[in-house]
Amino acid sequence: MLDYHASPDLLNDKVILVTGAGSGIGREAALSYGAHGATVILLGKTVKKLEAVYDELLAQGSPEPAIIPLDLQGATKQHYLDMAETIKQQFGRLDGVLFNAGQLGALGPFEMIGEDEWDSVMQVNLKSQFLMTQALLPLLKATPGAAIVYTSSGVGKRGRAYWGSYAVSKFATEGMMEVLADELDNTGVRVNCINPGATRTEMRARAYPGEDASTLRTPKDLMPLYLYLMGHDSQEVNGQSLDAQADKVRPRADQ
Ligand code: NDP
Repeated sequence: MLDYHASPDLLNDKVILVTGAGSGIGREAALSYGAHGATVILLGKTVKKLEAVYDELLAQGSPEPAIIPLDLQGATKQHYLDMAETIKQQFGRLDGVLFNAGQLGALGPFEMIGEDEWDSVMQVNLKSQFLMTQALLPLLKATPGAAIVYTSSGVGKRGRAYWGSYAVSKFATEGMMEVLADELDNTGVRVNCINPGATRTEMRARAYPGEDASTLRTPKDLMPLYLYLMGHDSQEVNGQSLDAQADKVRPRADQ
């Protein structure tokens, strides 16, 4: 794990949007960002889960968060444009976005991937991020030192049998990150990717039902990298795909 100790006020006065904030890694990231002073905007599909995280943030003394209930499966470009306008009006700024929400889809032979299944995974894991990024970029560009963090996977760096549309969507996420990072170089907005690695969450349990989950890292273990990439200590880091379970921030050329 990265040996990084974020200062308690790392994210003071910052507004950070986390997608898939109701559970798993997204929930933990939202709580960590809030614990370091950020006002967190919690986006997700299941309102009940978002409300529970909202309550946890208040209970731990974090700034009052906001909730955006949104199913990325059905959301259109206009939803994201409206969302950007609401954030602008309510907060006047956006310092960071953690694109964390993801859909595993069905695992199985490539020949068996249904068209609907493919479209559904691509919609949630890729197209929604493309549309949301486009809508939020004006706000991010206007905020000095803003950070975009996408979420990749080991199967988004090296394809693996039976990981079908999920793996392809993660490769594409890596590609989107690289294109955008190159384009935004020197604009003050940095764009990077995190590969969480095997982590004890519902998604992991679905992918590996027979696994002993107690052997896995927890979302909390990963937070040093999630904090590092969102705060000013990573100001110079752009266009990197980093492993949350590595002990060093190794640029892509060294991986
Ligand atoms: P979980 O399944 O535990 O959480 C996923 C989150 O995404 C949930 O909060 C879920 O909300 C949200 N989400 C899913 N579909 C939608 C949708 N259509 N609209 C809005 N929100 C949605 O997954 P993890 O925490 O494990 O995964 C987080 C990220 O990390 C994902 O991108 C995943 O691909 C990646 N990852 C995880 C690994 C692991 O081992 N856990 C390894 C490598 C990568 P709701 O509960 O309301 O459906």
